[in-house]
Amino acid sequence: MPPMDFDAIIIGTGQAGPALAARLSAAGMKVAVIERDKFGGTCVNNGCTPTKAMVASAYAVRIARRAADYGVVLDQGPRIDMNRVKERKDQIVRKAAEGVEKWMRGLKNATVFKGHARFLDESRVQVGSDVLSAGKIFVNVGGRPLVPKMPGVDEIAYLTNESMMDLDFAPPHLVVIGGSYIGLEFAQVMRRLGSEVTVVEMMPRLVGREDEDVSAAIKEFLEAEGIQVRLDAKCLSLRKDGDGVAVGLDCHDGPPLARGSHVLLAVGRVPATSDLGLDKAGIKTDARGFIEVDEGLRTTNPRVWALGDCNGKGAFTHTAYNDYEIVADNLLANAGRKYTDRIPVYALFTDPPLGRVGMNEGEIRKAGIKARVGKYPMTRVPRAVEKGETAGFLKIHVEDSSGRILGASLLGTGADESVHSLIDAIYARLPYPEFQRHVRIHPTVSELLPTTLESLKPV
Ligand SMILES: Cc1cc2nc3c(=O)[nH]c(=O)nc-3n(C[C@H](O)[C@H](O)[C@H](O)COP(=O)(O)OP(=O)(O)OC[C@H]3O[C@@H](n4cnc5c(N)ncnc54)[C@H](O)[C@@H]3O)c2cc1C
Repeated sequence: MPPMDFDAIIIGTGQAGPALAARLSAAGMKVAVIERDKFGGTCVNNGCTPTKAMVASAYAVRIARRAADYGVVLDQGPRIDMNRVKERKDQIVRKAAEGVEKWMRGLKNATVFKGHARFLDESRVQVGSDVLSAGKIFVNVGGRPLVPKMPGVDEIAYLTNESMMDLDFAPPHLVVIGGSYIGLEFAQVMRRLGSEVTVVEMMPRLVGREDEDVSAAIKEFLEAEGIQVRLDAKCLSLRKDGDGVAVGLDCHDGPPLARGSHVLLAVGRVPATSDLGLDKAGIKTDARGFIEVDEGLRTTNPRVWALGDCNGKGAFTHTAYNDYEIVADNLLANAGRKYTDRIPVYALFTDPPLGRVGMNEGEIRKAGIKARVGKYPMTRVPRAVEKGETAGFLKIHVEDSSGRILGASLLGTGADESVHSLIDAIYARLPYPEFQRHVRIHPTVSELLPTTLESLKPV
């Protein structure tokens, strides 16, 4: 059968594919969009959207439990309706996923194919019984949860971020393996929704990529909510334990086992590239399966681009979307954009959240940059005091020689939003004294960022 010819084929409808399909089809290109599963990919179906919906439910419980602190008298403690928590989350997800599907099916010059795409050669892709060909192919296949090869993993039923979405109950005792971004968000949510929670982390501290004071403060507020944290857990193993599961640990302190009713594996994600036939298309991957790309996100096959998590140049919705912008601007406007121009930005959506931009203290030391750090406790931020949410601190780093802001770790209420003025300042290469002159709104967390810079000390 002769292939169906297109100007562009887009594999995957995560955070880059749909916007790219819309932009290319609007530019008059004939586009094929292929999706094997749910429209919208990880973020919409199993990632950002449902987890942040659950974070919101968990926050409501938290505030209800603390109602008396605010002078609000509830006759009894809050009762959690897990069916409603799930239903609310599902509704938000459904609306978003259906929106993406409707958008794709409604595009003027695009045809949607439902099924698993696989390269046949450098320019042809098979999906089901259809063969498509195009001069330009865009891979936006994202990733899936990593299931580590630890002893016993095949003998127990474990949860991943995907199966967590089906829970309509709070597990009596959830053991979360992995004390990093995804694991900690789930840990706090499920604790607030009624589970006992133990977090098991292989490294000596939580979120090991962050500075030590950040890890310690996060541990402190999680433990204050009754979450047990087991660090330095080398040699993990899993086995059935009655109706539940036992996780073998080799920690420095504490008992050698963590027992629970359920276990969630949150130890990372792998790119969904092993079943794409990349070798047939001359597309190279690195040892971990990430597709190799140049600065414009072109693969080793010049007609193919890789966008989003599958290229290993970001692991976020905003980096995947930025990949789309880079590729589309380069193709349609010859913009010469590069992924290397972006500054690392992200948040950890615990309560309180961590807002991050640029370099942290550890990275600055490692790079040997002469810098100073300003730090300010949330207990002295009026808005945090008024809200009754004073955990955490604001921390900003500046370069000695230029006065440029190098990065920040803001841990505290509203930090996922307040970090954005620093993001803009860093992009604008604004020297910190100028940043300090801007008038800010009172009372907000952001108004204390200039004050934080008054206490600069050498890193
Ligand atoms: C629990 C969790 C919480 C998260 N929270 C956040 C957050 O708060 N903020 C944030 O920025 N990021 C968050 N992320 C990360 C974010 O979800 C991802 O970075 C983002 O979804 C990456 O998008 P993508 O476009 O690369 O791919 P994906 O969104 O993974 O989409 C890939 C799509 O390709 C399809 N596909 C794969 N292979 C094929 C094939 N062979 N043929 C056809 N279709 C295929 C898949 O079905 C999928 O629909 C979170 C992730 C998780 C797991």
